[in-house]
Amino acid sequence: MVCVAALLLSALLSSCANQASAVPQPEIEENTPISAPAEESETPSPGFETVGVSELGPELVDAYTHHYSPEILEADLRELAKAYEGQITLGVYGQSAQGRDLNYARIGDGSKDIIITGGIHAREYMSSVAVMNVLEEFLRIQKTGKLYGTTVLKEYTIWFLPSLNPDGAVISQSGEIVKIKANANGVDLNRNFAEGWDDYTGRPDGSIEFYKGPAPLSEPETKSLVEFIESPDRNIVYSIDMHTSGNVIYSDDTRGEETERLSEIMSRITGFPIWEDPSEGANYSDYLGAQGIPTITIELGIFTDAIVEESEGPFVKEVAKRIPRALYLLTQQ
Ligand SMILES: [Zn+2]
Repeated sequence: MVCVAALLLSALLSSCANQASAVPQPEIEENTPISAPAEESETPSPGFETVGVSELGPELVDAYTHHYSPEILEADLRELAKAYEGQITLGVYGQSAQGRDLNYARIGDGSKDIIITGGIHAREYMSSVAVMNVLEEFLRIQKTGKLYGTTVLKEYTIWFLPSLNPDGAVISQSGEIVKIKANANGVDLNRNFAEGWDDYTGRPDGSIEFYKGPAPLSEPETKSLVEFIESPDRNIVYSIDMHTSGNVIYSDDTRGEETERLSEIMSRITGFPIWEDPSEGANYSDYLGAQGIPTITIELGIFTDAIVEESEGPFVKEVAKRIPRALYLLTQQ
């Protein structure tokens, strides 16, 4: 439930990535198995009806605490790699400013790549849990060997980069600067990309957010991410970047049909409205747009200018678990 006062208040505030007011959370019926929505349905969507909840393995990633630390995240990755041996490959694509590993997990063996990212903003580490939930849901479905999961993973290779800013998450979680969005050098990584960097003013060094850094890609986190995306063997056709908060999808409708299709399908599946990406430049989405990669930003959780409440964890998780279904729909045209 969202009270009117909260909505009015939130309308006065600005959102994580941009300016947005809160929207009510879409209704998700209690006890509705998102992974197997069509089991009892008279007219199931093709592919969905073959996966029953009882066929799915246990959920290992279930850590919607306020302290989803890099250590917990890495332990979850290792646990998934053990439980789903042969389905998942783990790796490191770089190091953060303080020397933490920047982790990825890879699933699927399609010729086209999808990249799903989270945690670029320090305090938004609930988005990292959400990325892990998407990964786990794919693994659970794939293990059943049923059409729904295998179709997607035959067509696509999916790269999960759950924490783009692990140092920042630790700074926030330690209580040092709870509301920080920047990395350990004080740079807002989502304002450190080259596209539009010169014209973006932002805020001065020492701010918890919106400081663009001394130069484009000055930070090891953004530099490593760009190198990862531009690897010669990469063929990224879709990007989904998870943030908190607002329960909206940001998309740039000038970026072509595939971007529009991705946003529409994701909006249909999550129940979130699509809002125009209001980037003023130097954002990750500006970089991806310049690369010609269709991308959306998903803002999870009721709007807050701080940390999404732990109590919203189950809702965020249910939304994340719908994403495999949305990607399945992308394969159906
Ligand atoms: Zn953000």
